[in-house]
Amino acid sequence: MHLFLLLFSLAVSLTAIEGYTGKTSLIILDSPSGFITLEDKNISVLAHPVDRTRGMALIPIDYYASAGDYNISWTTPAITRTLPLHISIASYPTETLSVDPAKVTPPPEAMERIEAESAQAKAIYGHFTPIRYWNKPFIRPIESNTTSAYGSARTYNGSLKSYHGGIDFRALTPTPVQASNAGIVVLTQDRYYSGGTVIIDHGEGLYSCYFHLSRYDVKPGDLVSRGQIIALTGASGRITGPHLHFGMMANGIQADPLDLLLQLNALFPEPKRPL
Ligand SMILES: [Zn+2]
Repeated sequence: MHLFLLLFSLAVSLTAIEGYTGKTSLIILDSPSGFITLEDKNISVLAHPVDRTRGMALIPIDYYASAGDYNISWTTPAITRTLPLHISIASYPTETLSVDPAKVTPPPEAMERIEAESAQAKAIYGHFTPIRYWNKPFIRPIESNTTSAYGSARTYNGSLKSYHGGIDFRALTPTPVQASNAGIVVLTQDRYYSGGTVIIDHGEGLYSCYFHLSRYDVKPGDLVSRGQIIALTGASGRITGPHLHFGMMANGIQADPLDLLLQLNALFPEPKRPL
């Protein structure tokens, strides 16, 4: 029996999880117990949204992560299992954009505001709310074509290099924006780069972000349901034209929203709603 267990854990540990920069590795576990560590980072074991006898963990891989082999450890009162993680560099397109020069080289008087907003965002996304507010698949915030995918390597005004941290939806005229899923509104604010911004905490380290808005229909502290109208699209912040930017943060990392939400939605039984 012990030999069987040993062989079994060896077989499990030999199957490497494939990870890609900017994508999320969603791992399904045999039980919803214990905790996960990756390098020096602790990652919570979450309940599977449908099968309560199983657990899952969201391993978001940073856009700038280095390719290579890593080890994930899953520790429960009964076992410690090592799951090798192999990270590869994902390939993303390049984009060249022209925006208001003040959004590329901010005037000195804007620096304090930019730094405060950056620190505030970091504090929000780093907060783990130990409650799950959603129990249904996620939806698109608006029904529209996408104009820029997550991950594009961007050059602004020929100088500033960055990457696209979310997905852009076409919205030439003010369009109602829906909450992608249930959660608590944690921020509605006009911000230097993201313009009119709404952030929703879905619990367990998962946040959705809606940028460049022209109006808010919710306020911080509001509990919103999936599909509830939260705002109107606009053209505020660092933009080339009116659109909706939609992002997802998982465990403090800017994840590819469609990749993450398609994986979460796939946990639900048919019929699946297309994202
Ligand atoms: Zn965007």
